[in-house]
Amino acid sequence: MIRVFDFECSACGYIDEVFVKSDKRIAHCSQCSQQSHRLIAAPISKLDPHSGDFAGATIKWARQRQRQIETERKRESS
Ligand SMILES: [Zn+2]
Repeated sequence: MIRVFDFECSACGYIDEVFVKSDKRIAHCSQCSQQSHRLIAAPISKLDPHSGDFAGATIKWARQRQRQIETERKRESS
């Protein structure tokens, strides 16, 4: 079963949401490519009964994507 889990990077501390199999404990940081460890916190993914989509996860992903875009913009302008 594929679900969304939070992974915290052991190198830079970046917290990433990753779609992985529920038995997977290790992922790779999207910022520095080091190993990220799955956080114990309950997964936020809830199946939306109407669309069958991961509503909460999609919203969180969109917010995180927005932050990344803003960070990239700041980096470009400085
Ligand atoms: Zn990292």
